[in-house]
Order: sequence, then structure tokens, then C-alpha cells
Amino acid sequence: MIWGKYFMVLRCCTWRPSRLPKRRYSFLPGDDVKSLRSVVSPDVSKIRNIGIMAHIDAGKTTTTERMLYYSGYTRALGDVDDGDTVTDFMAQERERGITIQSAAVTFDWKGHRINLIDTPGHVDFTLEVERALRVLDGAVAVFDASAGVEAQTLTVWRQAQKHHIPCVCFLNKMDKPAANLSFCLESIRQKLKANPILLQLPVGSGRNFSGVVDLLTNQRLTWKPTDDGRVFDTSPFSASQEEEAELLLEVRRARAALIEQVADLDDDFAELLLTDFGDNFDAVPYVKLQEAVRRVTLTRKGVPVLCGSSLRNKGVQPLLDAITAFLPSPDERPRDLVRWYKDDLCALAFKVLHDKQRGPLVFLRIYSGTLRAQTAVHNINRNGTERMSRLLVPFADQHVEISSMTAGNIALTVGLKQTVTGDTIVASKASAVAAARRAQTEGRAGVVLSGVEVPDPVFFCTIEPPTLAKQADLENALNNLQREDPSLKVRMDPDSGQTILCGMGELHIEIIHDRIRREYGIETQLGPLQVAYRETILRPASATDTLDRTVGDRRHVVTVELAVRPGEDLGAAGSCQVAFLEEAAGTLSQDMREAVENGVQSSYLQGPLVGSPLQRVSTLIQRVNVEAGTSPAMVSACVSRCMLKALRLAGGQILEPVMSMEVTVEEEHLGTVLGDLAQRRGTIRDIRSRHEDKVLLASVPLAETRGYSTALRTLTSGKATFSLELDTYEAMSAQEQNALLKRMAGLA
Ligand code: GDP
Ligand code: MG
Repeated sequence: MIWGKYFMVLRCCTWRPSRLPKRRYSFLPGDDVKSLRSVVSPDVSKIRNIGIMAHIDAGKTTTTERMLYYSGYTRALGDVDDGDTVTDFMAQERERGITIQSAAVTFDWKGHRINLIDTPGHVDFTLEVERALRVLDGAVAVFDASAGVEAQTLTVWRQAQKHHIPCVCFLNKMDKPAANLSFCLESIRQKLKANPILLQLPVGSGRNFSGVVDLLTNQRLTWKPTDDGRVFDTSPFSASQEEEAELLLEVRRARAALIEQVADLDDDFAELLLTDFGDNFDAVPYVKLQEAVRRVTLTRKGVPVLCGSSLRNKGVQPLLDAITAFLPSPDERPRDLVRWYKDDLCALAFKVLHDKQRGPLVFLRIYSGTLRAQTAVHNINRNGTERMSRLLVPFADQHVEISSMTAGNIALTVGLKQTVTGDTIVASKASAVAAARRAQTEGRAGVVLSGVEVPDPVFFCTIEPPTLAKQADLENALNNLQREDPSLKVRMDPDSGQTILCGMGELHIEIIHDRIRREYGIETQLGPLQVAYRETILRPASATDTLDRTVGDRRHVVTVELAVRPGEDLGAAGSCQVAFLEEAAGTLSQDMREAVENGVQSSYLQGPLVGSPLQRVSTLIQRVNVEAGTSPAMVSACVSRCMLKALRLAGGQILEPVMSMEVTVEEEHLGTVLGDLAQRRGTIRDIRSRHEDKVLLASVPLAETRGYSTALRTLTSGKATFSLELDTYEAMSAQEQNALLKRMAGLA
């Protein structure tokens, strides 16, 4: 694939809905943020490296905040609506209320160390999700219980599937009147193709949602309607009350269904049931059932489902219990590459942040060995050794220093200046060599942990510093940002000398611009946002060219004859090729052959129409005559010039990126949205119903999606959402292509 997945979801309403009541939380009496306890690497079986995945607005941030609060790491409840949460620590995130950075947060819960990787909810940043998933051992999927499975969760879920990550589902927002348990279970089955194992029944609905019944223990957990939810009541049923009796019956049924379901999925449990309990489900010990659910979760035959309302402070503690009970510890996960390191250090840099005081902070996931502060480590990808000064544990918003950290943990390091997101860090060069040797004896090459495939950017624009004096500062800022975010590309336009910013979407570039201003204090000017087009050719053509140039007292003479043709056979990815006729190849030295190839490749990078990279072109070198004394650079130059001639003759065709778009909208606005999409050259592929909403699927050229979030907000009074994903590159019609060329030439 030349392009990777590009996906974007924009929420089309303001992120602070005014209808939500403002909540005020008081500090807990006499409860200091516990002076950050035993900061030692815990026993690996007690570690949980967990990601939270969710569609934007499902309540990921709120849930994370509650977890930190109940485990004692924050004193006051943060509230995304007030913009004071711990994990959304970047200024823009606070302003926008979306989680852009995936920050790792550590806390302890009942003797376990939980490292929570906050995967971004905004799909312009799917790459960050992918990166976060590589270092996780398990995940919690948070759903809005009134919406079921939404687009972004589906995307992330598929990615989690790819990495075989066991999951637990949390149906959040059970306090909403539209919350619907059976709808959610059905949507988990249908859309995620997963097998939900319901472990709790909600008690009460809408405003009266008061807690859950734990089907494993048969206990009822009740939270007070208004307080911070730290203390909750655990009680058995009292069959005396009529309403209780009804609930009890429902619980019996649900528990029986749960036991049967688990027995179907787990042979050990089925056998136990058959031999020891028969139909007497009430007698099945909770521990046996829990162990069976754990096995089912780890083998991904099923996903435990829990219910709650983070905002109303209900159901979060059982979710924490479920994380420790059902999700795997690092040593329960398959680790292939790292076994060659034995007990030597092997770690993956999965995130780089820049801190003004401390310089680059690198988040490392340690797979084997021990990481020690004040030591040198070797970066395999950069092939360099650098010294780490301090080692920190990222407890909420406080980073606590530690002297060493063992396998399975996540650490924050200070002092690694060369390391880029995705790099593999080991103890020394010798240790990398030893591991490579061990791998080789088993017939495996390479001991670098797999990085993340970075898709090609689809949007670009020029960026200019306010004054020439600031150019160096801007370059420094862009270097830092690129190390943090490999999906950002920066290049120089060779003709104009301008700096070009290339990104994954409109919002991506906007956020980079914003960060340069805020974090580096540089007011930059962005040029108009441009679409990354591609070019191809329509018909075969050949050309010949001779270069005869004297530079100093050296004469360079070369003649080239070549043919280009459309390479339909090159597949959907559409890369370009170069081949030599045997006669031509025979006459060339290795140097000259490479010079010819370089000449072809460089002309593939800039097509003759709009200077975009070429796609699906096949070139055949038919003849090359090089006179003695001619330099390879001159040969390359002659080939490029000849290529340009041939490509011009072959008739240019512009290819534009086409996105697949999903819009969720209320029925009353459907007509307006359809009309608008038609004007954007969109093709409607499908319209489905979801509750009262319509979900429409369309193909829309990327160029026409500019400003769509604003447009959609205006058209629907902020009641619609949409997502975008790069689908393919398609040929523009002759009319559109001419219009584009005129626009680019400044004629229209
Ligand atoms: P994220 O985008 O997934 O991080 O979601 P947030 O945590 O930012 O929450 C999005 C919105 O949903 C905010 O306005 C929250 O106040 C609200 N919210 C979160 N949890 C609940 C809940 O349990 N019930 C209700 N009614 N609203 C919630
Ligand atoms: Mg969030």
C-alpha cells in the first residue's frame, strides 16, 4: 500500500453542550494526594497495561478521571466540560475537549499497577491509536449506552483485533434516558462481531439509574444519587420487597444465561458444571465462574460487559476490578522478538513529548530486562548510543522519579535526544548483536520491534515564520514535532525554497499550527491548504534525448532512448516501475545503471502536469550511450529530461484522493445534507437507519471535504457527526482537471 488508512471524525457540535449541568466537586476531607507511595516496579503478574478506546464523546476522558480519583491519585474530580482533566493535558485538548495526545497514566488499584494508555478519540489520529495498541496488553472499550458501537470504536476495535488484544466493554452513560442495554449487546454482536458476556444488570434507568447487580457474586451495588461515588453500598437482595422479587427473578435468569454461555465457551468450566453442580446454578462458586470468564476473555472468545455512568460516579470501581481480574498481565501475552534478548533490556519508544524544562520525554514500554536511570542505552533504529538521565513514573499529572524499572512496565525517560517515536531501545550495541545472532540461529532476521506504518499525508501547505530571524526556531519546532508525530512530514520546496507541512487532515495541520504558536511562541503563516494529488499517463509514448555539455574542460555526452506506458498491471497501490532492455543493460556499468534509475525515479516524484508524484507508470530503457568521461549526474539529468518529454507525449491525467464518508444525521436534515454532498461531487452509496437517525455512506473527493465540519454544523444546527477515511485515488474528469489546472495557474 502506498497510502495507509486515513480516517477522521469531527464532531459537529460545540464541545461544551450548555444543557449539561455544571458540577462542582469538593476536595476530600483530610485526604492528601497520598505522598506517592512505594514507587517500585511491581511483580509483573500484577501489572496491567491497558488502553481505553472509544468513539469521541463516549466518555473516555471522564472514565479515566474517575479511575484516577477512586484510586487516590487526584483530589478533585476533573470534568471535561470544565476543561480541567489530567489526561487531556495539552492546552488545545482542554480548549477543544478532545484527546489528541495519547498520554500514559499510572496508578495502583488493589495491589495491581495499572498503566492506562489514553488512546485518542479523534480519528485524524488513528496512527496514534495504532501506536498505543502496540504497547498494550488489554483494552477497555467505552461506549455511550444510548449509541452502541459507533464508527471510531469500530476502527479501533479492528486494530485491537489485529494485535490480538483482549477487551472488556463498559457501557457508559447508563443514566441517559435513551440508554439501551439490549441494543448495545446486539450492536456489539453485529458490528464488532464479538461475543458479549453480560456480567452486570443495571438497576433503574435514566435519572433513576442507581447501580448494578453483579451477576458473578449476586450482589447489588448501589451508589448514592449525588455524591462523588467513592463509597457505595454492597448488599444481597431482600426478597421481602415486591420490586426486589421481580429484580431477583431477572437476575436469576441473567445469571443462568451467563453460566450457560460461559460453559459453552470454556471446556473446563463446562466439565466442572456437569460433574459438580448439574442444574444447581446457585451453588456455582463465584471464583470458578470468574476464572472461566478470565480464560474466555484472554482467548478472545468473549468480551465481558459492564455498565455504569462515569459522569454520575457510578460503576467505575467494578470496572477497575474487571481490569485486574480479566485482562492479562504482560507475561500472559505472546512476545516473539524479545525472547532473543533474554534478560537484556529491550524497550519500545511509543511516544515522545517535548517539555520546556526537561527537553524530550520519551515513553518506553519495557519488554525485557531492566531500565536504569543514569545509564547509556543503544537505539537500534538510529544506530546510536545515548545517555538517559532520569527515569520517571507518570502518576497522573505528577511524574515521580525512580531508579530502575523492570520488564512489563511503562517508563518515562529524560535525556534521550535522538529517539523518535517507534524506535527500539536496548542495553548496548553488543546486546543487539547478540540478540541478532540468536535470532539468526532460528532463521529469523531482525531484532527491531515493529514500528508503525506511516501513511502518506493527503494535505499540505506552506508554512512561513513571521521574520527570517525566526526560521531557525521554526525548524527546531518542526523537528521536535516530527519526532513526536511521525505522520507529520516537513519538506522543502526545491523551487521556491519554502517549507511545506504535510499532514493527515485539515485538523491535523491546524493543530500543528496551533502547537507551534503555543508551545514554541512562533506566529507562523500558513499558505492555502492543498490536496496531495497524484498523476498518471493515458497512453504509451517514447522519446529520445541527447545531452552534450562541457563543464570546465570535461565534456559529458549521453544519449537516451526510452518508452513509458500506463502500468495498469501495477495494482491498486499503483507504484511505478523501471526496466531495461537487455541490450541497453548490457552496455552499462553498475554506476551508470544506477544513474539511469535515479533519473527515472526523480521524474516519478514530480509529474509534468502539477508536479505531483506519478502513479502506475512503467518505463522501459531502450538504449543508453555514454561517452567516456561523462559523470553519472549528467546521465541522470539527461534521463530525467527525456522522461519529461515522454511523459508529456503520453498525456497527463490527474488522480485525486477520494474519501469514504459516513454521516450520521437526524432524518429532518437528511435532505439538506444530501443536497450539499451532491454539490461536493459526492456519490451516495448507502443510507441506513439507526434509532431515529440516518447514517449515510458516500464517496467524496478530498478536495471537496474542506471546511465540511463547519458546513455540516451550520446545515444541521450541530446535530450531525461525520467520519472520513481515504478510500482510493481516482481520475478526474477532463472538465474538472482543466478547471483545476486553470486554478493552479492562477487563471481562474
Ligand atoms: P471522550 O471524548 O470519550 O473523552 O468523552 P468525554 O469524557 O470528554 O465526555 C464527553 C461528554 O459526555 C462530556 O460532556 C461528558 O460530560 C459526557 N459524559 C461522560 N460520561 C457520561 C455519563 O456517564 N453520562 C452522561 N449523561 N454524560 C456523560
Ligand atoms: Mg477525551
